Amino acid sequence: MTSPLQEARAAWTALAPEIVEQFGLLFAMPELSCLEYRSMDLLAGWMEAHGFSVERGVGDVPTAFLARKDSGGSGPRIGILVEYDALPGLDNEPQARRTSSGRKPGHGCGHNHIGPANAGAGIAAAAALQQAGLAGEIVVVGCPAEEIVWGKLALQAAGVFDGLDAVLTSHGDYQNGSISRPCHATANGEFRFSGESAHSGLGTARNAVAASEAAIAHFRTIAGEAFDELQFKHVYRFAGYSPGVTPDEVRVWASVRHRDFDTMRAGYARMEAVFSEVASAHQVDFRGDLVAACRGYLANDTLGRVMADCLQTVGAPAWTKSDIAFMEELSQACAPGKPFTLHRELAYFDQGIDYYGQDDGDLSWQIPLGRINWAYPENVPIHHWAWTALSGHTASQAGPLMASEAIAIAAVRLIADPHHLTAARAELDRRKAGTIVPPPEFGLLEVLTKRPEEFWDATW
Ligand SMILES: [Zn+2]
Repeated sequence: MTSPLQEARAAWTALAPEIVEQFGLLFAMPELSCLEYRSMDLLAGWMEAHGFSVERGVGDVPTAFLARKDSGGSGPRIGILVEYDALPGLDNEPQARRTSSGRKPGHGCGHNHIGPANAGAGIAAAAALQQAGLAGEIVVVGCPAEEIVWGKLALQAAGVFDGLDAVLTSHGDYQNGSISRPCHATANGEFRFSGESAHSGLGTARNAVAASEAAIAHFRTIAGEAFDELQFKHVYRFAGYSPGVTPDEVRVWASVRHRDFDTMRAGYARMEAVFSEVASAHQVDFRGDLVAACRGYLANDTLGRVMADCLQTVGAPAWTKSDIAFMEELSQACAPGKPFTLHRELAYFDQGIDYYGQDDGDLSWQIPLGRINWAYPENVPIHHWAWTALSGHTASQAGPLMASEAIAIAAVRLIADPHHLTAARAELDRRKAGTIVPPPEFGLLEVLTKRPEEFWDATW
């Protein structure tokens, strides 16, 4: 008689060619946050084809979906997170050179892998439960808009994750293994400086460009002095068309990041206050709109150890010689002359903090969340054309396939041995002790769900 875990491995192995096919299909249709209509439909349709009942537009977010399949009876409910949005400006062919103008979206964060790898894990796990006669439910949540740290906060506020016993996910990074350490808390928002248009030669007393530049410079100085290690980043969304015309309006999209949520939130409030004060000194009107504010990941060793065990069963990514050759070529293109480094083993990561922030932070404070990373070469920067290039190349597939199989096994294992779920919940409560976690904070619900094109054009 085969064990449920063997069933999971067999089901996953049978599905693997479909997962690989989905990697390529998603790569070919990169879509920005809240515009992922085709990507959502591709994955939702795939789940339906495998017998899941699928609700599109769940939580009133048009590009979200919820796919469930239970094996009868009442058992644990395991959530698996799926992402599929791309990044602006990072389109690239799967080649070891910049092939694009940088004006179109591309999968520079590898979400074309996360979608199929994690959804595929759900398909395999559900099949194995049925085969093994284990009572439980697999709930795959299609989560849009991760790249603006927004989607899961909106879905969490709408109650989409309620009732799940654990949530599992994966992401590409620079290491292979199970992650049980925090990442950064982060918030971002859009800021408008509205003055008066003018011929630049004559000038205007109400100059939105001068006000925005002064505001950013002033906050950069303050951020360093007032907040230890607060990271501050910005881009100009709109700042005029011609040096001869001072524009009416300038829009800035800015974010802050810190290991501590309260410090991060205080940093964001200070940023908005400074922008407002400088605008006022320039006699320029000011408006700030929060996009999202998210906690860092609350680590969970109970789930982390289960995920680590499942990774041991699967083994480290099985790269071929030609996979390594392409990654070496890409590394050279990004960092000429630097030695090639790639994490090729499996490890457990429970020390330190990850550099990034992401939108499942708040969720990890509500439901135990287990996370797997797979490695890309150290010289290939994430959110860079080269990450897109790798994400479209077969050399990228071994890592997400490893994560996918391990998540499939982990989901079945958690349902077969539900005492892990009780322990994971107890650990969450213990780690959270004393922390009051208010509902997720995010904005622009109407814009992002009804007219997302205007969000990306900065015309809303
Ligand atoms: Zn990402």
